[in-house]
Amino acid sequence: MKSLYVKFAFTTIAIMLLSGIIAFMLSNFYYQQKLKPLNDEKNTKIALDMAAFIEEEDHIELDSYLNNIADVGYQMMLVDQASAEMYYGAPFREEGLPAHTKENVLDGTVYHGIANFPQETFATGFFANELENTIGVPLTYEGEQYALFIRPDIKLLFNEMHFLLAWLLVLTIILSIILVLISTKYLVHPISKMTKATEKLSEGDFDIRLEIGRDDEIGQLAKSFTHMAKQLEALDEMKNEFISNISHDVKSPLANIKGYVNFLDREGVSAAEKDEYITIINQEINRLSNLTKQLLLLASLDSQEELLKKKEFIVSDQLKEIIRSHQWHLEEKGIMVSHKLPEVSVYGDASMLYNVWENLLTNAIKYNEEDGNIDIAVVDHGTEVEVRFQDTGIGLDKKTEDRIFDRFYREDTSRNRTIEGTGLGLAIVASIIELHDGYVKIESEFEEGTSFSVYLPSL
Ligand code: ADP
Repeated sequence: MKSLYVKFAFTTIAIMLLSGIIAFMLSNFYYQQKLKPLNDEKNTKIALDMAAFIEEEDHIELDSYLNNIADVGYQMMLVDQASAEMYYGAPFREEGLPAHTKENVLDGTVYHGIANFPQETFATGFFANELENTIGVPLTYEGEQYALFIRPDIKLLFNEMHFLLAWLLVLTIILSIILVLISTKYLVHPISKMTKATEKLSEGDFDIRLEIGRDDEIGQLAKSFTHMAKQLEALDEMKNEFISNISHDVKSPLANIKGYVNFLDREGVSAAEKDEYITIINQEINRLSNLTKQLLLLASLDSQEELLKKKEFIVSDQLKEIIRSHQWHLEEKGIMVSHKLPEVSVYGDASMLYNVWENLLTNAIKYNEEDGNIDIAVVDHGTEVEVRFQDTGIGLDKKTEDRIFDRFYREDTSRNRTIEGTGLGLAIVASIIELHDGYVKIESEFEEGTSFSVYLPSL
């Protein structure tokens, strides 16, 4: 597999070469269409001026005059009526010229060899040192007819320019290749770093620090990648914590059950003691069954396997039903319930929302003082419906408040160590309310009481 670096560098260099070729072809086309006729026109004028000068100046020595002109940068051929050819200046690389061309010029026609020079894809023709690529003009000298063919001596005139351009081109190509190789390395390096980081991540190593000091898309990608690694790490920790919590919460009731079952087998256990052990065993079994129920519910909420069966129903009726079914629980603790439950409908999954109200009510009972109060209210705010449970219980401190929706989180203080719980109730509340596009607000005074308000969007 070719590395991204090689591919990128190769593609850029290929693009540069291709652009060079296309640019040359376009400028060649421009030369052929625009510059070649102008070049022809310019040289025709020079040749005609020379011919006029020779004709006007009687006493001029033709041979030395043409040698002189050759020295300043022209290549020439002079043909007389007897077809004798004389050359001046640097020799032509190709000297072939049809006889009729020479005759035509001798007869007085101007030959436009530059404008009519054949067009080629990879050559401009500007540099073609050929007799065919000349301007031919008729000339009369001392009563004799001549044909004079001239073209600028490009080599003489532009030799240094030639080298300059060649160096410019070679240096541009070399420098571009070096710079492309360096800049490609700079561009591709962070991607290689991220590939290595991904490999580390897939092996379960979440300790990834990508130091890429860039603000562009790659910098953003690196930042998102680091963020993702941190999230995965947190998720992994949560998973481990979750497993250890479940193991602990399953192990301790099982150990209790095993212990009390052994007690039952002992000799000399009184009937009263047996009853007490059986009650404890029953309690532990209830704890286990409650835990499994809550875990199953959470798992189904997570996988959204339990598709919500939403319908419109009167939430106040549901709340009254829950209060009724917990009456014994309330009386046991001497708790007074007051409520304001106007007939308000909500749109949602009734059995899921039943779980929410039940969790909030049992918490308001569990974390309340003996002979405390609970106030339950439904308020229609127009765009949303609020269901509030306010208790006069132990309250929450700020630290606990931030974490109570986490799975298995339980405040670990002497205030609630004796209160039974799994730490899953509010996690279930949060998941269900989220699935209903609602939210929960908490207001709490430490040691004074807590109020949980659930807001659901109105119909
Ligand atoms: P559980 O009640 O099974 O422990 P929850 O998820 O329902 O689990 O509650 C998490 C924690 O939030 C509780 O352990 C408790 O510390 C705190 N909490 C919940 N409801 C109340 C409340 N009404 N008053 C005071 N603390 C509460």
